[in-house]
Amino acid sequence: DPTRFSVIVVGAGISGITAAKVLAENGVEDVLILEAADRIGGRIRKEQFGGVTVELGAGWIAGVGGKHGKIFPSGVAAHSYQKAVESAIQKLRNQESVSNPDGDNETPSAPKTPIELAIDFILHDFEMAEVEPISTYVDFGEREFLVADERGYEHLLHTMAATFLSTSDGEISDTRLKLNKVVRELQHSRNGVSVKTEDGGVYEANYVILSVSIGVLQTHLISFYPPLPRWKTEAISNCDIMVYTKVFLKFPHQFWPCGPGKEFFIYAHERRGYYTFWQHMENAYPGSNILVVTLTNGESKRIEAQSDQETLREAMEVLRNMFGPDIPDATDILVPRWWNNRFQRGSYSNYPIYVNHQLVDEIKAPVGRIFFTGEHTSEKFSGYVHGGYLSGIDTSKALLEEMRMEKERKSSENQSF
Ligand code: FAD
Repeated sequence: DPTRFSVIVVGAGISGITAAKVLAENGVEDVLILEAADRIGGRIRKEQFGGVTVELGAGWIAGVGGKHGKIFPSGVAAHSYQKAVESAIQKLRNQESVSNPDGDNETPSAPKTPIELAIDFILHDFEMAEVEPISTYVDFGEREFLVADERGYEHLLHTMAATFLSTSDGEISDTRLKLNKVVRELQHSRNGVSVKTEDGGVYEANYVILSVSIGVLQTHLISFYPPLPRWKTEAISNCDIMVYTKVFLKFPHQFWPCGPGKEFFIYAHERRGYYTFWQHMENAYPGSNILVVTLTNGESKRIEAQSDQETLREAMEVLRNMFGPDIPDATDILVPRWWNNRFQRGSYSNYPIYVNHQLVDEIKAPVGRIFFTGEHTSEKFSGYVHGGYLSGIDTSKALLEEMRMEKERKSSENQSF
Protein backbone atom coordinates (compact mmCIF):
# COMPACT_ATOMS: atom_id res chain seq x y z
CA ASP A 1 0.00 0.00 0.00
CA PRO A 2 1.73 3.18 -1.16
CA THR A 3 -0.11 5.45 1.31
CA ARG A 4 0.79 3.32 4.29
CA PHE A 5 3.98 4.34 6.08
CA SER A 6 6.26 2.05 8.02
CA VAL A 7 6.38 4.56 10.86
CA ILE A 8 4.65 7.84 11.71
CA VAL A 9 6.55 10.04 14.15
CA VAL A 10 4.30 12.47 16.03
CA GLY A 11 6.22 15.63 17.00
CA ALA A 12 9.35 17.22 15.57
CA GLY A 13 11.27 18.23 18.68
CA ILE A 14 14.71 16.85 19.44
CA SER A 15 13.41 13.36 20.30
CA GLY A 16 11.14 13.01 17.24
CA ILE A 17 13.77 14.25 14.78
CA THR A 18 16.40 11.99 16.34
CA ALA A 19 14.07 8.97 16.22
CA ALA A 20 13.30 9.56 12.53
CA LYS A 21 17.00 10.01 11.75
CA VAL A 22 17.92 6.69 13.38
CA LEU A 23 15.17 4.94 11.39
CA ALA A 24 16.41 6.50 8.14
CA GLU A 25 19.98 5.47 8.91
CA ASN A 26 18.76 1.90 9.35
CA GLY A 27 16.98 1.74 6.02
CA VAL A 28 13.49 2.71 7.15
CA GLU A 29 12.92 5.64 4.83
CA ASP A 30 9.13 5.69 4.50
CA VAL A 31 8.64 7.64 7.68
CA LEU A 32 6.16 10.48 8.05
CA ILE A 33 6.70 13.18 10.67
CA LEU A 34 3.56 15.06 11.79
CA GLU A 35 4.23 18.25 13.75
CA ALA A 36 1.47 20.39 15.27
CA ALA A 37 3.36 23.69 15.22
CA ASP A 38 4.47 25.65 12.16
CA ARG A 39 8.12 24.90 12.91
CA ILE A 40 10.34 22.10 14.14
CA GLY A 41 12.18 22.28 17.47
CA GLY A 42 9.46 22.00 20.11
CA ARG A 43 10.94 23.21 23.38
CA ILE A 44 14.09 24.36 21.61
CA ARG A 45 12.93 27.70 20.34
CA LYS A 46 14.51 31.02 19.54
CA GLU A 47 12.96 34.41 19.07
CA GLN A 48 14.25 37.84 18.10
CA PHE A 49 14.04 40.20 21.05
CA GLY A 50 15.67 43.53 21.66
CA GLY A 51 17.98 43.11 18.68
CA VAL A 52 19.36 39.68 19.58
CA THR A 53 18.34 36.02 19.45
CA VAL A 54 17.02 34.74 22.77
CA GLU A 55 16.18 31.16 23.69
CA LEU A 56 12.66 30.83 25.11
CA GLY A 57 13.15 27.15 25.92
CA ALA A 58 16.35 25.19 26.44
CA GLY A 59 19.32 27.53 26.73
CA TRP A 60 22.00 25.63 28.59
CA ILE A 61 23.98 22.76 27.19
CA ALA A 62 24.79 20.73 30.26
CA GLY A 63 27.44 18.06 30.43
CA VAL A 64 30.22 19.61 28.37
CA GLY A 65 33.92 19.01 28.85
CA GLY A 66 33.99 15.41 30.00
CA LYS A 67 35.57 12.58 28.10
CA HIS A 68 32.43 12.10 26.02
CA GLY A 69 31.63 15.78 25.73
CA LYS A 70 31.55 16.21 22.01
CA ILE A 71 28.78 18.77 21.72
CA PHE A 72 30.55 22.00 20.94
CA PRO A 73 28.67 24.36 18.63
CA SER A 74 30.36 27.60 17.68
CA GLY A 75 29.25 30.78 19.33
CA VAL A 76 28.56 29.54 22.80
CA ALA A 77 29.68 31.54 25.78
CA ALA A 78 31.21 29.65 28.69
CA HIS A 79 30.01 30.24 32.22
CA SER A 80 30.92 28.87 35.57
CA TYR A 81 27.23 28.98 36.30
CA GLN A 82 27.10 26.31 38.96
CA LYS A 83 29.78 28.09 41.01
CA ALA A 84 28.00 31.43 40.70
CA VAL A 85 24.79 29.94 42.05
CA GLU A 86 26.60 28.23 44.92
CA SER A 87 28.41 31.39 45.94
CA ALA A 88 25.18 33.40 45.76
CA ILE A 89 23.51 30.95 48.10
CA GLN A 90 26.46 31.12 50.49
CA LYS A 91 26.25 34.93 50.55
CA LEU A 92 22.54 34.72 51.28
CA ARG A 93 23.13 32.22 54.09
CA ASN A 94 25.73 34.51 55.66
CA GLN A 95 23.37 37.46 55.44
CA GLU A 96 20.56 35.42 56.95
CA SER A 97 22.66 34.37 59.95
CA VAL A 98 23.58 38.04 60.57
CA SER A 99 19.98 39.27 60.35
CA ASN A 100 18.56 36.29 62.21
CA PRO A 101 21.23 35.22 64.75
CA ASP A 102 18.76 33.31 66.92
CA GLY A 103 17.65 31.19 64.01
CA ASP A 104 17.78 27.55 64.97
CA ASN A 105 19.93 25.91 62.33
CA GLU A 106 19.93 22.51 63.97
CA THR A 107 16.40 21.44 63.18
CA PRO A 108 15.46 21.81 59.55
CA SER A 109 12.14 23.61 59.37
CA ALA A 110 10.05 25.06 56.58
CA PRO A 111 11.66 28.19 55.10
CA LYS A 112 10.04 31.34 56.48
CA THR A 113 12.06 34.49 55.96
CA PRO A 114 12.37 36.05 52.49
CA ILE A 115 16.03 34.96 52.32
CA GLU A 116 15.23 31.39 53.38
CA LEU A 117 12.47 31.34 50.77
CA ALA A 118 14.85 32.61 48.08
CA ILE A 119 17.41 29.90 48.90
CA ASP A 120 14.72 27.24 48.92
CA PHE A 121 13.42 28.44 45.55
CA ILE A 122 16.87 28.38 43.95
CA LEU A 123 17.70 24.93 45.30
CA HIS A 124 14.39 23.30 44.47
CA ASP A 125 12.71 25.15 41.62
CA PHE A 126 15.35 27.01 39.71
CA GLU A 127 18.04 24.38 39.69
CA MET A 128 16.93 21.00 38.50
CA ALA A 129 16.10 19.11 41.66
CA GLU A 130 18.44 16.18 41.19
CA VAL A 131 20.20 13.95 43.65
CA GLU A 132 23.98 13.84 43.63
CA PRO A 133 25.79 12.51 41.73
CA ILE A 134 24.13 14.17 38.75
CA SER A 135 24.13 11.66 35.88
CA THR A 136 24.79 14.32 33.25
CA TYR A 137 28.01 15.44 34.95
CA VAL A 138 29.19 11.90 35.61
CA ASP A 139 28.53 10.65 32.09
CA PHE A 140 29.46 13.71 30.05
CA GLY A 141 31.21 16.48 31.96
CA GLU A 142 30.56 19.15 34.54
CA ARG A 143 30.57 22.30 32.48
CA GLU A 144 27.47 24.10 31.29
CA PHE A 145 27.37 26.36 28.27
CA LEU A 146 24.84 29.04 27.55
CA VAL A 147 23.79 29.07 23.92
CA ALA A 148 24.35 32.56 22.54
CA ASP A 149 24.20 32.03 18.81
CA GLU A 150 22.19 34.17 16.40
CA ARG A 151 21.11 30.99 14.60
CA GLY A 152 19.64 29.69 17.83
CA TYR A 153 20.03 26.34 19.57
CA GLU A 154 17.55 25.03 16.99
CA HIS A 155 20.24 25.33 14.31
CA LEU A 156 21.60 22.00 15.61
CA LEU A 157 18.20 20.42 15.05
CA HIS A 158 17.90 21.78 11.51
CA THR A 159 21.38 20.48 10.73
CA MET A 160 20.44 17.05 12.05
CA ALA A 161 17.16 17.00 10.12
CA ALA A 162 18.98 17.96 6.92
CA THR A 163 21.08 14.80 7.13
CA PHE A 164 18.06 12.69 6.17
CA LEU A 165 15.38 15.12 4.91
CA SER A 166 15.78 16.98 1.63
CA THR A 167 16.16 20.75 1.69
CA SER A 168 15.92 23.63 -0.72
CA ASP A 169 17.43 27.07 -0.07
CA GLY A 170 18.46 25.90 3.38
CA GLU A 171 14.87 25.07 4.38
CA ILE A 172 13.54 21.55 4.85
CA SER A 173 11.32 20.82 1.86
CA ASP A 174 10.90 17.07 2.28
CA THR A 175 7.25 15.98 2.07
CA ARG A 176 7.90 13.42 4.81
CA LEU A 177 7.80 16.33 7.28
CA LYS A 178 4.36 17.89 7.62
CA LEU A 179 3.94 21.01 9.76
CA ASN A 180 0.65 22.35 11.19
CA LYS A 181 -0.63 18.79 11.59
CA VAL A 182 -2.24 18.45 15.01
CA VAL A 183 -2.70 14.76 15.79
CA ARG A 184 -6.02 14.20 17.60
CA GLU A 185 -6.64 10.47 17.40
CA LEU A 186 -4.67 7.23 17.30
CA GLN A 187 -6.67 4.16 16.36
CA HIS A 188 -4.55 1.09 16.86
CA SER A 189 -4.93 -2.63 16.38
CA ARG A 190 -2.81 -5.74 15.84
CA ASN A 191 -2.40 -4.70 12.23
CA GLY A 192 -1.46 -1.06 12.34
CA VAL A 193 -2.23 2.45 13.47
CA SER A 194 -4.52 5.02 11.91
CA VAL A 195 -3.62 8.62 12.77
CA LYS A 196 -6.20 11.40 12.50
CA THR A 197 -5.30 15.08 12.43
CA GLU A 198 -7.35 18.14 13.36
CA ASP A 199 -7.74 19.17 9.71
CA GLY A 200 -9.47 15.87 8.90
CA GLY A 201 -6.42 14.06 7.53
CA VAL A 202 -5.99 10.32 8.05
CA TYR A 203 -2.61 8.63 7.82
CA GLU A 204 -1.91 4.92 8.09
CA ALA A 205 1.22 3.28 9.43
CA ASN A 206 2.56 0.02 10.77
CA TYR A 207 3.89 1.80 13.86
CA VAL A 208 3.72 5.19 15.58
CA ILE A 209 6.40 6.90 17.63
CA LEU A 210 4.72 9.42 19.91
CA SER A 211 7.08 12.17 21.08
CA VAL A 212 4.64 14.70 22.55
CA SER A 213 5.46 15.98 26.04
CA ILE A 214 4.19 14.41 29.25
CA GLY A 215 2.07 17.54 29.68
CA VAL A 216 0.31 16.87 26.38
CA LEU A 217 -0.16 13.19 27.29
CA GLN A 218 -1.88 14.32 30.50
CA THR A 219 -4.45 16.35 28.56
CA HIS A 220 -7.01 14.95 26.16
CA LEU A 221 -5.53 16.44 23.01
CA ILE A 222 -4.92 12.95 21.62
CA SER A 223 -7.56 10.19 21.96
CA PHE A 224 -6.62 6.54 21.80
CA TYR A 225 -8.87 3.79 20.43
CA PRO A 226 -8.85 1.43 22.17
CA PRO A 227 -7.96 3.58 25.19
CA LEU A 228 -4.53 3.26 26.77
CA PRO A 229 -4.39 0.62 29.51
CA ARG A 230 -4.81 1.69 33.11
CA TRP A 231 -1.13 1.11 34.09
CA LYS A 232 -0.14 3.53 31.31
CA THR A 233 -2.57 6.33 32.10
CA GLU A 234 -1.73 6.06 35.81
CA ALA A 235 1.99 6.30 35.15
CA ILE A 236 1.42 9.32 32.90
CA SER A 237 -0.62 11.10 35.54
CA ASN A 238 1.97 10.34 38.25
CA CYS A 239 4.72 12.31 36.53
CA ASP A 240 4.98 15.93 37.66
CA ILE A 241 5.47 18.77 35.24
CA MET A 242 7.65 21.74 35.91
CA VAL A 243 6.72 25.10 34.46
CA TYR A 244 9.81 27.25 33.98
CA THR A 245 9.53 30.68 32.43
CA LYS A 246 12.27 33.05 31.34
CA VAL A 247 10.92 36.59 31.13
CA PHE A 248 13.06 38.91 29.00
CA LEU A 249 13.21 42.66 29.63
CA LYS A 250 14.89 45.21 27.37
CA PHE A 251 16.26 48.49 28.79
CA PRO A 252 17.52 51.71 27.21
CA HIS A 253 20.78 51.35 29.16
CA GLN A 254 22.47 49.16 31.73
CA PHE A 255 22.02 50.00 35.44
CA TRP A 256 23.05 46.67 37.01
CA PRO A 257 26.57 45.66 38.01
CA CYS A 258 28.58 43.70 35.45
CA GLY A 259 31.92 41.96 35.40
CA PRO A 260 33.32 38.79 36.93
CA GLY A 261 31.08 37.14 39.52
CA LYS A 262 28.22 39.53 38.79
CA GLU A 263 26.12 37.71 36.27
CA PHE A 264 23.25 36.70 38.53
CA PHE A 265 21.37 38.52 41.24
CA ILE A 266 18.73 37.38 43.66
CA TYR A 267 15.67 39.12 45.07
CA ALA A 268 14.31 37.95 48.43
CA HIS A 269 10.59 38.49 48.95
CA GLU A 270 8.00 37.17 51.38
CA ARG A 271 6.29 35.37 48.53
CA ARG A 272 8.29 32.31 47.45
CA GLY A 273 9.57 32.52 43.88
CA TYR A 274 8.41 36.11 43.34
CA TYR A 275 10.89 37.45 40.72
CA THR A 276 13.70 35.74 42.64
CA PHE A 277 16.35 34.84 40.09
CA TRP A 278 17.80 37.43 37.70
CA GLN A 279 20.49 37.22 35.06
CA HIS A 280 21.93 39.85 32.73
CA MET A 281 22.85 38.97 29.17
CA GLU A 282 25.96 41.12 28.89
CA ASN A 283 28.34 38.13 28.76
CA ALA A 284 26.40 36.51 25.97
CA TYR A 285 25.40 39.69 24.15
CA PRO A 286 27.44 42.71 25.29
CA GLY A 287 25.51 45.95 24.99
CA SER A 288 22.14 44.22 24.57
CA ASN A 289 20.82 45.72 27.84
CA ILE A 290 18.62 42.71 28.46
CA LEU A 291 17.71 41.18 31.81
CA VAL A 292 16.14 37.75 32.27
CA VAL A 293 14.08 36.82 35.32
CA THR A 294 13.04 33.22 35.87
CA LEU A 295 9.70 32.24 37.35
CA THR A 296 8.40 28.72 37.95
CA ASN A 297 5.25 26.70 38.54
CA GLY A 298 2.55 28.74 40.35
CA GLU A 299 4.25 32.06 39.57
CA SER A 300 4.68 31.03 35.92
CA LYS A 301 1.00 30.17 35.64
CA ARG A 302 0.04 33.40 37.36
CA ILE A 303 1.98 35.64 34.98
CA GLU A 304 0.90 33.62 31.95
CA ALA A 305 -2.67 34.47 32.88
CA GLN A 306 -2.13 38.22 33.20
CA SER A 307 -1.20 40.83 30.63
CA ASP A 308 2.46 41.36 29.80
CA GLN A 309 2.04 45.00 30.85
CA GLU A 310 1.07 43.83 34.35
CA THR A 311 4.13 41.57 34.49
CA LEU A 312 6.30 44.47 33.33
CA ARG A 313 4.88 46.65 36.10
CA GLU A 314 5.58 43.99 38.75
CA ALA A 315 9.12 43.41 37.48
CA MET A 316 9.87 47.15 37.49
CA GLU A 317 8.67 47.46 41.07
CA VAL A 318 11.01 44.62 42.09
CA LEU A 319 13.95 46.18 40.21
CA ARG A 320 13.29 49.59 41.82
CA ASN A 321 13.33 47.91 45.23
CA MET A 322 16.77 46.57 44.37
CA PHE A 323 18.35 49.40 42.35
CA GLY A 324 16.45 52.50 43.47
CA PRO A 325 13.73 54.67 41.97
CA ASP A 326 15.80 56.26 39.21
CA ILE A 327 16.33 53.29 36.93
CA PRO A 328 14.69 53.52 33.49
CA ASP A 329 11.55 51.63 32.57
CA ALA A 330 11.95 48.55 30.40
CA THR A 331 11.07 49.34 26.79
CA ASP A 332 10.00 45.81 25.86
CA ILE A 333 9.04 42.52 27.50
CA LEU A 334 8.79 38.93 26.28
CA VAL A 335 6.78 36.39 28.30
CA PRO A 336 6.83 32.81 26.92
CA ARG A 337 3.70 30.80 27.73
CA TRP A 338 4.76 27.14 27.97
CA TRP A 339 1.88 26.23 30.28
CA ASN A 340 -0.91 27.58 28.10
CA ASN A 341 0.58 26.22 24.88
CA ARG A 342 -1.60 23.19 24.16
CA PHE A 343 1.33 21.51 22.34
CA GLN A 344 3.52 21.74 25.45
CA ARG A 345 1.53 22.13 28.70
CA GLY A 346 4.64 22.78 30.76
CA SER A 347 8.39 23.01 30.43
CA TYR A 348 9.76 19.60 31.41
CA SER A 349 9.02 16.45 33.38
CA ASN A 350 9.99 16.40 37.01
CA TYR A 351 10.30 12.92 38.45
CA PRO A 352 10.27 12.44 42.21
CA ILE A 353 13.80 12.99 43.59
CA TYR A 354 14.31 9.29 44.24
CA VAL A 355 13.54 8.10 40.76
CA ASN A 356 11.07 5.30 40.70
CA HIS A 357 12.38 3.07 37.91
CA GLN A 358 9.04 1.43 37.41
CA LEU A 359 7.38 4.77 36.75
CA VAL A 360 9.78 5.73 33.93
CA ASP A 361 9.63 2.19 32.53
CA GLU A 362 5.85 2.36 32.33
CA ILE A 363 5.85 5.81 30.77
CA LYS A 364 8.33 4.57 28.16
CA ALA A 365 6.79 1.14 27.48
CA PRO A 366 5.08 0.70 24.10
CA VAL A 367 1.36 -0.04 23.90
CA GLY A 368 0.84 -2.39 20.98
CA ARG A 369 2.15 -0.56 17.94
CA ILE A 370 2.51 2.79 19.66
CA PHE A 371 6.03 3.56 20.90
CA PHE A 372 6.74 6.42 23.30
CA THR A 373 9.71 8.74 23.26
CA GLY A 374 10.76 12.16 24.54
CA GLU A 375 12.65 13.72 27.42
CA HIS A 376 10.16 12.20 29.90
CA THR A 377 11.05 8.65 28.81
CA SER A 378 14.72 9.05 29.70
CA GLU A 379 15.54 7.49 33.03
CA LYS A 380 18.87 9.23 33.54
CA PHE A 381 18.45 12.52 31.72
CA SER A 382 14.78 13.44 31.87
CA GLY A 383 14.18 17.18 31.65
CA TYR A 384 17.14 17.83 29.35
CA VAL A 385 17.71 18.21 25.63
CA HIS A 386 20.21 15.35 25.72
CA GLY A 387 17.52 13.27 27.49
CA GLY A 388 15.26 13.89 24.49
CA TYR A 389 18.07 13.12 22.05
CA LEU A 390 19.12 9.86 23.71
CA SER A 391 15.49 8.75 24.15
CA GLY A 392 14.91 9.21 20.40
CA ILE A 393 17.82 6.86 19.70
CA ASP A 394 16.61 4.34 22.30
CA THR A 395 13.04 4.27 21.08
CA SER A 396 14.01 3.81 17.44
CA LYS A 397 16.41 1.01 18.32
CA ALA A 398 13.65 -0.76 20.25
CA LEU A 399 11.28 -0.28 17.32
CA LEU A 400 13.83 -1.56 14.79
CA GLU A 401 14.22 -4.68 16.92
CA GLU A 402 10.44 -5.10 17.03
CA MET A 403 10.23 -4.70 13.23
CA ARG A 404 12.94 -7.31 12.78
CA MET A 405 11.07 -9.75 15.00
CA GLU A 406 7.80 -9.10 13.20
CA LYS A 407 9.47 -9.87 9.89
CA GLU A 408 10.83 -13.12 11.30
CA ARG A 409 7.42 -14.10 12.64
CA LYS A 410 5.83 -13.41 9.27
CA SER A 411 8.39 -15.37 7.31
CA SER A 412 8.03 -18.38 9.59
CA GLU A 413 4.23 -18.14 9.31
CA ASN A 414 4.57 -18.11 5.52
CA GLN A 415 6.82 -21.14 5.60
CA SER A 416 4.31 -23.15 7.56
CA PHE A 417 1.60 -22.59 4.94
P1 FAD B 1 9.34 18.60 22.51
O1 FAD B 1 10.46 19.51 22.20
O2 FAD B 1 8.20 19.15 23.28
O3 FAD B 1 8.81 17.97 21.14
C1 FAD B 1 7.51 17.45 21.00
C2 FAD B 1 6.89 18.02 19.75
O4 FAD B 1 5.56 17.48 19.61
C3 FAD B 1 6.71 19.54 19.75
O5 FAD B 1 7.32 20.08 18.61
C4 FAD B 1 5.19 19.75 19.75
O6 FAD B 1 4.80 20.89 19.01
C5 FAD B 1 4.72 18.48 19.09
N1 FAD B 1 3.33 18.12 19.39
C6 FAD B 1 2.67 18.23 20.57
N2 FAD B 1 1.41 17.79 20.46
C7 FAD B 1 1.26 17.38 19.18
C8 FAD B 1 0.16 16.80 18.45
N3 FAD B 1 -1.02 16.57 19.03
N4 FAD B 1 0.35 16.51 17.14
C9 FAD B 1 1.54 16.73 16.53
N5 FAD B 1 2.61 17.27 17.19
C10 FAD B 1 2.47 17.58 18.50
N6 FAD B 1 17.00 21.38 28.58
C11 FAD B 1 18.36 21.48 28.67
O7 FAD B 1 19.07 20.51 28.33
N7 FAD B 1 18.95 22.64 29.08
C12 FAD B 1 18.22 23.74 29.41
O8 FAD B 1 18.77 24.79 29.74
C13 FAD B 1 16.81 23.65 29.37
N8 FAD B 1 16.06 24.72 29.71
C14 FAD B 1 14.71 24.71 29.44
C15 FAD B 1 13.97 25.87 29.63
C16 FAD B 1 12.64 25.91 29.29
C17 FAD B 1 11.87 27.20 29.47
C18 FAD B 1 12.01 24.76 28.74
C19 FAD B 1 10.59 24.80 28.28
C20 FAD B 1 12.73 23.59 28.58
C21 FAD B 1 14.09 23.54 28.93
N9 FAD B 1 14.86 22.38 28.78
C22 FAD B 1 16.23 22.44 28.91
C23 FAD B 1 14.24 21.09 28.43
C24 FAD B 1 14.34 20.75 26.94
O9 FAD B 1 13.95 21.85 26.17
C25 FAD B 1 13.44 19.56 26.66
O10 FAD B 1 13.78 18.49 27.54
C26 FAD B 1 13.56 18.99 25.22
O11 FAD B 1 13.66 20.03 24.27
C27 FAD B 1 12.33 18.14 24.96
O12 FAD B 1 12.38 17.55 23.68
P2 FAD B 1 11.26 16.51 23.25
O13 FAD B 1 11.54 16.09 21.86
O14 FAD B 1 11.14 15.46 24.30
O15 FAD B 1 9.87 17.30 23.34
